[in-house]
Amino acid sequence: MSQPGSRAEPGPWREVAGGVYVCVVQPASVNVGLIVGSDFAMVVDTGSSPWQGRLLRHAAREVTNAAIQAAVATHWHYDHCFGLAGFTDVSTFAHESVAARLRSQEAAAVAADLGVEVSELAVASREVAVASAVDLGGRRVEIAHLGRGHTDGDLVVVVPDANVLFAGDLIESDSAPWYGDDSFPHEWASTLDSVIGLMTVDTVAIPGHGGPVNREFVFGQRGRVAAVSGEIRRLSEAGIRAPEALQAGSWPFPAPHITDGIDAGYRQLEGGRKTLPLI
Ligand SMILES: [Zn+2]
Repeated sequence: MSQPGSRAEPGPWREVAGGVYVCVVQPASVNVGLIVGSDFAMVVDTGSSPWQGRLLRHAAREVTNAAIQAAVATHWHYDHCFGLAGFTDVSTFAHESVAARLRSQEAAAVAADLGVEVSELAVASREVAVASAVDLGGRRVEIAHLGRGHTDGDLVVVVPDANVLFAGDLIESDSAPWYGDDSFPHEWASTLDSVIGLMTVDTVAIPGHGGPVNREFVFGQRGRVAAVSGEIRRLSEAGIRAPEALQAGSWPFPAPHITDGIDAGYRQLEGGRKTLPLI
């Protein structure tokens, strides 16, 4: 089945700080960032298909003549990552877990749904374990893995001189954050603590989906993310089994956003239980 949305054109660029732009790309209304330095530019998240990635490069010329030198995929989900193939001649960055994810059956199934040839998908040329940086000329951009949360390979991209932070799907502002089977509900809040640690009262954070937010918004979402983890623990300790947890619990986010994450959270509680001796 082919979804024409994977071939949708990017929306207009909106400048969120000097030389830092965001546009929205369908079918998932994902935010794509464009960071412009005096010599080069880079893209944050790449759209849902190789075609869309190439189109984003073209669209960047609407606001800058600087050549695109780099692209970052904040995590492996199709709307952020499938456009990497449009950037194979420049440095591309993703967490070290992403390449295996893109070669998985799950990615192949999503590609088939989108009408994207899985053989055309590209992995990043630079794998990030902890942190990396790109010099765009007069502007240094930092890329960091602050911990697991929405996925096991979430990256944030920071433009220190502009006080802008791209958070990927660790934060969402158009609706609740999305918990998948690949999320880490018990670690997400502490990862957001690290995100908050990089922010000041004036920092503009760009979520994966939705308009820009400030530190206070991230504080609020961090609290609700922590509540999801706490509720999974409480229900598990009360003897409620995973299939009944959604009904039995009190949740800060709508059911479709957290159903798969509750299962993942239960699984991770089981897997994470330590017994003595530890050595
Ligand atoms: Zn995602």
